[in-house]
Amino acid sequence: MPERQYIPVDCSSALNKLKRKVPYEWDLNIYRGCEHGCKYCYAIYSHDYLKDGAFFDRVYVKQNILEHLEKELRSPSWKRDIVNIGGVTDSYQPIEQEYQLMPEILKLLIKYKTPAIISTKSDLILRDYDLIDRLSRITYINVAATVTTMDESVRQQLEPNGCESVKRFAMLKEFRKTNASVGLHVMPIVPYLTDTEENIDSLFACAKDSNVHYALPGTLYLRGKTRPYFLEFIKTDYPQIYEQMCELYKKGGAGKEYKDVLYERVNRLRKKYNLSGSYTIAIKEKMYREPDLFSGM
Ligand code: SF4
Repeated sequence: MPERQYIPVDCSSALNKLKRKVPYEWDLNIYRGCEHGCKYCYAIYSHDYLKDGAFFDRVYVKQNILEHLEKELRSPSWKRDIVNIGGVTDSYQPIEQEYQLMPEILKLLIKYKTPAIISTKSDLILRDYDLIDRLSRITYINVAATVTTMDESVRQQLEPNGCESVKRFAMLKEFRKTNASVGLHVMPIVPYLTDTEENIDSLFACAKDSNVHYALPGTLYLRGKTRPYFLEFIKTDYPQIYEQMCELYKKGGAGKEYKDVLYERVNRLRKKYNLSGSYTIAIKEKMYREPDLFSGM
């Protein structure tokens, strides 16, 4: 196993404009590369243009991101759109403990009343509880945890450096005490591994217990570099489902037949726990109550 490297780099902007507009059109990623090491990671491709194949072991830190963010947020053209923080890599991966960039990012969002969405697989976000609480009282902020399984041994295989699933739910429960909207992302659901009635039932039971505003599921998708990386992992760690998995993933997505069965289960269980599947309701509610804060939307 190569030793992990952290490389400070300069970025040319903090906010990245996305092609779509709804529900957000801006992305902000502090790090390139991610130590969490999830076997299904969709972002592995993002190291390609750096000509660097070590997505999990070489993390680039955007050391000047705060200067750029302040410049961009104070610009008269900034319309206080929602910023999706960590859409590509996790902002609360372990190295954030050292760099402490997120508290400064949050202070700028507070200063410029900018709404945001943060999703993470780490409870390190609790360190910034007070700042997120403050932001939640002046604008829209969504805190989401991605949780794929309640089976700790499977979790360790799938997401070796993320924190335990129970800690992610405990984190959501804490943020539910703020004015933030709080959600569970069950993404990806891995066929034959995390798609069981038992696992989805446990995830939704925990979501209910954490009193989340919504629970959003998504099936595994395998494209680009993620495909060989993930299939190799299955071949080595779960050889008993390897053939089935290859059969199901002849293309990037699982077939309709599989998805129909899966979503019948997911929707039935979501109903059982009376969980919403929409994360935009909270955005709309906030916009309705405080429309002046969302003049750019
Ligand atoms: S937390 Fe997200 S970005 Fe990081 S390794 Fe896992 S899937 Fe990839």
